[in-house]
Amino acid sequence: MRRRILKLVGQVLSICTLDPNTHDGMHVAEEDDFVASAVVYPSSTEEVQTIVRWANEHRIPISPISIGRNYGYGGAAPRVRGAVVIDLGRRMNRILDINPDDCTCLVEPGVTYFALYEEIQARGYKHIWIDVPDIGGGSVLGNAVDRGVGYTPYGDHWGMHSGMEVVLPTGEVIRTGMGALQGNNSWQLFAPGFGPTPDGLFSQSNLGIVTKMGFGLMPNPGGHEAYLFTFPREEDLAQLIEIIRPLRIAMILENVAQLRHVSLQVGLEGKPRSHYYNGKGRVPDNIIHDVAKKLSHGDCAWLYYGMSYGPPEIRKYKLDIIEKEFMKIPGARRIDPSTLPADDYFWVRDRVASGVPELEELRWVNWHPNGGHVAFSPVSPVRGKDATALWDIARRRCEEFDLDLFPTFVVGLREMHLIVEIVFNRDDSVMRNNARASLRAMIDDAAKQGYGEYRTHLAFMDQIASTYNWNDGALLRFNERIKDCLDPNGIMAPGKSGVWPARYRGRGWEM
Ligand code: ADP
Repeated sequence: MRRRILKLVGQVLSICTLDPNTHDGMHVAEEDDFVASAVVYPSSTEEVQTIVRWANEHRIPISPISIGRNYGYGGAAPRVRGAVVIDLGRRMNRILDINPDDCTCLVEPGVTYFALYEEIQARGYKHIWIDVPDIGGGSVLGNAVDRGVGYTPYGDHWGMHSGMEVVLPTGEVIRTGMGALQGNNSWQLFAPGFGPTPDGLFSQSNLGIVTKMGFGLMPNPGGHEAYLFTFPREEDLAQLIEIIRPLRIAMILENVAQLRHVSLQVGLEGKPRSHYYNGKGRVPDNIIHDVAKKLSHGDCAWLYYGMSYGPPEIRKYKLDIIEKEFMKIPGARRIDPSTLPADDYFWVRDRVASGVPELEELRWVNWHPNGGHVAFSPVSPVRGKDATALWDIARRRCEEFDLDLFPTFVVGLREMHLIVEIVFNRDDSVMRNNARASLRAMIDDAAKQGYGEYRTHLAFMDQIASTYNWNDGALLRFNERIKDCLDPNGIMAPGKSGVWPARYRGRGWEM
């Protein structure tokens, strides 16, 4: 009965809301597996404290979101069905400070990349950039807390933060770093402050609700130039990654760089799969390549989108090196941007890598009607052999489960993430089951070879936490001890990142 009521609630909510703040709009599980029972909209830190105290009193699980996009990782949904979502974004959305001299800002959870960008433009601060992820509608604070990335040299959003205000699971509020000093003047300038640095406890965690967060902002580098290289064969992958590693560590490749598979470019056309192919299994490679031939960049297997920063003479120095190295791959081509139309995807990457918020990236979700997506996101060394091993896992498992795959290698600095996006029809339970089964298989295959995911959908958090198992799972036990200490009633986002409070542990919640 309870399940039927929740299902009904889920259906009504999904019809009522385009961008839901009650459940996962891209549900890879059943729609009502992760659904809220209520949403509250605090307007201040004090109101957040009141909610948290009330949750303790009544032992109600609560789940904070900032804007709640979190596409592919569970959206706004709580891990525990029936939890109350604390939607901070709607009313706590003030830009508290933009300091044009120090190039810093202090924001509340509801400040989106668009809002911050527009405010900087409105104030005429031409010398300050922001760093944006692929989609600019999300929260600056929420993305950083969940360790999202962007595409300028400031792309490590978590790494660029300085100072947090956090409501703890028992309702007290703390400020980290220099913010702990009454009357301080350096909160956004020196993240560590003095003594133990607890900030990491509030990232991808369930130990607090972040109500304010500061960031360093990138100074305008005085010019920028996007570039695109294409490479003809899938087998070029290993050599390419070997070329990328030293260039990226030396910051000749200056931004979090993307090596995208051509299938993603076909997906970005925004047409459904049925437009190209109606058979079972993966769309055959020859069809993908036939479509690619007609795209502006022509046929290829891989595309490298990068950006060079600074005045022309500085850019030339770096671009000459990049061109010389990439052209070592037989058949490599550098695409001349002046040949590309204004609506080409190249210009989307150009804007994103120069800090202008965009909304185009998810066009490939239209691959299936009623499309949703979920990502396999393992971390690895920037080595040809690791790229090939992960690529083999992804291809093999997607083939086994009749799924197309949209992969990108994203090179941070000394590590890379392979992001494999899997698109499915949310109404097709067989396809959703296959997407889940393939993800589970990929996570296990990867762990056996020493690769772990950096972030995941709610449905896979327990599995991934269990792969971080050195010393008989010592890290998870440590996290559980902290959880039980800071959140004795287990009310704060139980199960987030696989960390369950004592009240829930071992009682059938893990999946
Ligand atoms: P975005 O809209 O930018 O994608 P979300 O608001 O969906 O970001 O946040 C992503 C995840 O980060 C949430 O599911 C939640 O686990 C965590 N999170 C977001 N905001 C907060 C916050 N203010 N305090 C604690 N955790 C948060």
